[in-house]
Amino acid sequence: MKFMEKLKQKDKKFYIKWMVISVSAIMAALAAAWFYIHDWDVEQSMKALAEAVSVEEPATEAPKEEIAVPTEPEEPETPEEEPAAEEAPDATVYPENSVLPTEPTLINGVLLANKQHPLPETYAPGEVPEARTAFEAMKAAAAKEGLNLSAFSTYRDFARQKQLYEGYVAKDGQQAADRYSARPGYSEHQTGLAFDIGEAGQEQHWASASFGDTAGGKWLAANAHEYGFILRYPEGSEQITGYMHESWHFRYVGKEVAAEVYEKGITLEEYLGI
Ligand SMILES: [Zn+2]
Repeated sequence: MKFMEKLKQKDKKFYIKWMVISVSAIMAALAAAWFYIHDWDVEQSMKALAEAVSVEEPATEAPKEEIAVPTEPEEPETPEEEPAAEEAPDATVYPENSVLPTEPTLINGVLLANKQHPLPETYAPGEVPEARTAFEAMKAAAAKEGLNLSAFSTYRDFARQKQLYEGYVAKDGQQAADRYSARPGYSEHQTGLAFDIGEAGQEQHWASASFGDTAGGKWLAANAHEYGFILRYPEGSEQITGYMHESWHFRYVGKEVAAEVYEKGITLEEYLGI
């Protein structure tokens, strides 16, 4: 029995020994195959092995918490630009292909002449007597202050404006001329209500920005409304009136309108709501 037992033990050992060798060989072969399919990359192979061994996560896994990645602050939403359908035309620019009208523009009884509102070629009232009377009253008041006012340019008809404008264009070019002179049909002087004012004996300041700094220019800016005149093209209003500042160009509108324009510090266009 002891022998048999010994034999059995011997067989057992033999058997186990071969089992170990066989399993080792198979394991080695499998390992080699595993490394082979992972391009002999040890790290990748081990990772793949770990993944294969690990329990597969259920597909219905709750969504991972989103990682808060700092992002650029969102641009504030800007409303889409309004279509420019109702955009006011540029007051400094003449409308293209404009045709002179057959009637002048009157708003609430006030005659308007600017780059968007021309006058008929035939509109020829001459210097308006009411405006001349008002100017003479103003001149008399200024004389008491030692100022000798002179209206050196008032009414100009269409033909005269045409001649002037074409002369300026020939001299300075159309773009420059358009900034200081009106095209024929567009001049306020054709209304008979515009007065270019200076001081007698101070002709160097006539139709010049420097007039605004003289005693006469300052007196007019402060008092003209009392006589029904407004400074027609004030400083900083070129986009509204269409003309650069003219310290010498006054427009007769009557005392009531002049007082309101003066007190509110607005232009004729703003007063008329256009
Ligand atoms: Zn003028």
